[in-house]
Amino acid sequence: MSVRVRFAPSPTGFLHIGGLRTALYNYLFARHHGGTFVLRIEDTDQSRYVEGAEADIIRSLEWAGMTIDEGPTNPGGVGPYRQSERKEMYLEYAKQLIESDNAYYAFDTPEEIDEMRERLKKSGNPSPSYDSITRQSMKNSLTLSKDEVEKRLANGDDYVVRLKVPRRETVKFEDLIRGIVSFDTAGLDDQVLMKSDGMPTYHLANVVDDHTMGITHVIRGEEWLSSAPKHMLLYKAFGWEAPTMAHLPLIMSPSGGKLSKRKAESEGIPVNTKDYISGNYEPEALINFLAYLGWSPGDDSEIHDMKELCKLFTLDRVSKGGAVFNYKKLMWYNEHYIRETSVEELQPRVKVLAEEMGFDTKSDAYLKTVVKLLHERVSKIDEFVSMGSFFFEAPKEYDEKAVKKWKDDSADLVKAWTEKVDALSEEEFKAATLKSKLEETIEEHEVGFGKLMMPLRIAVTGQGFGPDLFESLELLGKEEVMERIETALKRLD
Ligand code: GLU
Repeated sequence: MSVRVRFAPSPTGFLHIGGLRTALYNYLFARHHGGTFVLRIEDTDQSRYVEGAEADIIRSLEWAGMTIDEGPTNPGGVGPYRQSERKEMYLEYAKQLIESDNAYYAFDTPEEIDEMRERLKKSGNPSPSYDSITRQSMKNSLTLSKDEVEKRLANGDDYVVRLKVPRRETVKFEDLIRGIVSFDTAGLDDQVLMKSDGMPTYHLANVVDDHTMGITHVIRGEEWLSSAPKHMLLYKAFGWEAPTMAHLPLIMSPSGGKLSKRKAESEGIPVNTKDYISGNYEPEALINFLAYLGWSPGDDSEIHDMKELCKLFTLDRVSKGGAVFNYKKLMWYNEHYIRETSVEELQPRVKVLAEEMGFDTKSDAYLKTVVKLLHERVSKIDEFVSMGSFFFEAPKEYDEKAVKKWKDDSADLVKAWTEKVDALSEEEFKAATLKSKLEETIEEHEVGFGKLMMPLRIAVTGQGFGPDLFESLELLGKEEVMERIETALKRLD
């Protein structure tokens, strides 16, 4: 039997980073087994539907390097791949369950259900629900006569279809991550399967689709574990074999608790995949990082690209406990992948970013040198532009902290150096020469290296730190450097 897995997001907003990890684990599992990775859009809850969410999901998966084998935009043989387009099917399946006495029509109005709840609360039941006991006193096809039911249906009365959850049964299944999971049906309500608007609920649609799409393994977030017993009852009621289950650990915030949108924001962690795209993170870094957020290959290796991850990934190495989102670690990965990328590959990407910010990057050779000078210093590609902006234009401001290091003797020292290098031609304006001129100057003035180096850096770059100063001066060229120093002497002294 070949493996078929699905990523089944609801299009209710931008793809959350946790959703991306769920997709990734499905994808890695599929590739590891030479199986199929399906994208199914679970859009039966019309009230939560968000325009553009599906496109965001597809774009995010593509950016991350996950190829969708079957999905709404590239259907395979078991489509459609949007639940809203499969609407007709679900009622047929619900009727099948009614016929086999595993489900029933319920005609109660919301008011009648509220009344039942109030009544039971008063008699001491703290969380009354529509279940194997209360169903007996409600208006449904189990309590009403056959004629009455048919009359109501013919009449077009509002109804829902509910699952007839057995009174006292233990539902047991094996979860590949959690081991044997067992639930008592006494705590379950008679789950609504079809809503009065004719749409199925998540539970019915999910089970029908997983079965009819031939899904072999359900890999999803822990938050769905509590729904699994309902799904198991449904599989049993249909007489279908259930897919193998694997519920992934939660992603936790560094300060504890689930990494919710609000928490993430307050801790400066981007929460939607689109933020990583627009934030110029390396997709390989995010993927490597996410793979390790709840899984490890069992040795101390940490760097693996998608191809290697596909080879290594197995569900038995996924942890049960929550995985803490460590942003520093993500940046460590990002830095690693930037270092691994060649200057030739980085240069055109930096060019786009710099031009978007309105900088003139001069020539390709010039920009390539900028990238080379900063390659070991940046941890995100946009830092080539922010750290290297002085290569594209003279500093408009001088960094406040840096300016504090501009001392009384700074101007004299800078002037002394300038006089020496003024004698050099553009061709002689080379890093090594510039450095030796600096050494000469500090010797003559009997001061330390930093006394001249720092003011020189501030004058030319506007910052107190940055790439190799002499290489930077050489790249900027004599004319530009001299001009900047002149401006700085006027402004800083
Ligand atoms: N539509 C559900 C979600 O939004 C899918 C849960 C599942 O994978 O069964 O996550």
